[in-house]
Amino acid sequence: MIFGAFMNIKKNDLINLNINGMTSEGSGVGRTEDGIVIFVPNAAVGDELSVRIVKTHKKYAFGKIELIIAPSEDRIETDCPYSKQCGGCVYRHISYKSELEIKQNKVRDAITKIGGLENVKINPVIGAESPNNYRNKAQIPVGCSQDGNAILGFYAFHSHRIVDCQSCLLQPPIFTDVMNVVRKYIKETKESIYDETTHKGNLRHLYIRYGEVTGEIMVCLVINSEKIKNEALLVNLLSSEIRGLKSIVLNTNKEQTNVILGSKNHVIFGSETITDELCGLKFKISPLSFYQVNRRQAERLYNIAKKYASLSGEEILLDLYCGTGTIGLTMAHKAKKVIGVELVPQAIDDARKNAELNKINNAQFICGEAKKAAADMKKQGIKPDVVVIDPPRKGCDSELITTVMDMEPNLIVYVSCDPATLARDLKLFTQYKAEECTPVDMFPRTAHVECVVLMSRVYELSI
Ligand code: SAH
Repeated sequence: MIFGAFMNIKKNDLINLNINGMTSEGSGVGRTEDGIVIFVPNAAVGDELSVRIVKTHKKYAFGKIELIIAPSEDRIETDCPYSKQCGGCVYRHISYKSELEIKQNKVRDAITKIGGLENVKINPVIGAESPNNYRNKAQIPVGCSQDGNAILGFYAFHSHRIVDCQSCLLQPPIFTDVMNVVRKYIKETKESIYDETTHKGNLRHLYIRYGEVTGEIMVCLVINSEKIKNEALLVNLLSSEIRGLKSIVLNTNKEQTNVILGSKNHVIFGSETITDELCGLKFKISPLSFYQVNRRQAERLYNIAKKYASLSGEEILLDLYCGTGTIGLTMAHKAKKVIGVELVPQAIDDARKNAELNKINNAQFICGEAKKAAADMKKQGIKPDVVVIDPPRKGCDSELITTVMDMEPNLIVYVSCDPATLARDLKLFTQYKAEECTPVDMFPRTAHVECVVLMSRVYELSI
């Protein structure tokens, strides 16, 4: 009996465990002989482990690997010195091939179990050519070590403890150079470091963006005020040491929040935007605008979305959650008209500039809440032929889903970064059939996987 048996497991116990599954967050899952589920980070399916229990709940427990008794066949030597402490990568200890299989299962499980959809064609995950150096954006928390020195790095798994990292394999090497310059700046100026618990201190995050094709770099310091000590020194150090530096921005965030960026930017060097290229178009990106972090995989994702949209040149395309307009603009030459909708005003400014920059004149952008903008369009009698939906992780509002169905587009292309909310939403699109899903690995070595789904309208037969 689970309850009785559970009494036998407590914190600090050492147990033997076989790992036979993975959670959607990338932890290994095993069961004790009594059926108690144990979650173990950095484990792999097929591992035989000695596990130390670190936390217990009513029906499950968390453990950490004390010893690998017999390793899984999926295991590889980890190539990162921080992988044991850093929570950034959860699959660095297994082969990339196995990682893609896990992601494939994650998508299939979500669509069949959460979505209850049995007949969706799920294609193999499109893996990255290289699972390293793909990020064009980093948000690096700045903290203080016990001896008072600045530390820059990434949070430990499920925690806000910063692991001091000199470099990161997911990033381009130039980000390491930027981190070093900022370390040097902090050492020389003794600028104060933000403390989450007391809400005192200035430097909160180092935020870097990189235009992979153009080589342009944006460095943004997120601070708990409007100023930094000796701003000129930071500008001098960065401009002399960082090739491609295009922009230095101070972003003010005085809120006691986990949200990294505040709403106010002050440019102290160069311009407020950097430019990158995606699918043959140029895109200007400002600090607060969303831009896909893995450019090479984003191109593959967009090409599938374009294929699914099957545009002939005659259609009205509605691009909901459009960010800087990237999806709609890359399809604009095949549509009569593109309408993009996005909540963040700076992203809409970027989208309009991006249309101009690429000489696209059949695109219109609306700043607003997707569900409200869609409802307004429906009232005005606008009837898109194809709707692209690319919401944040939490997925769509059910009201938006109803409005989109009422607009009766022939096709809906749903781009999602969370298979669970995707599956939940697909189920709500009752007048549409999810035909095909292609997962794309935009975030190698992490547990995340992106999906693009084609839905077509189900026409009722009237007799
Ligand atoms: N399609 C874009 C952006 C996708 S990310 C691309 O591929 O680059 C999701 C976007 O939705 C973000 O830009 C975010 O600002 C925006 N967003 C979040 N909530 C929203 C809402 N309720 N209404 C409209 N846009 C929203």
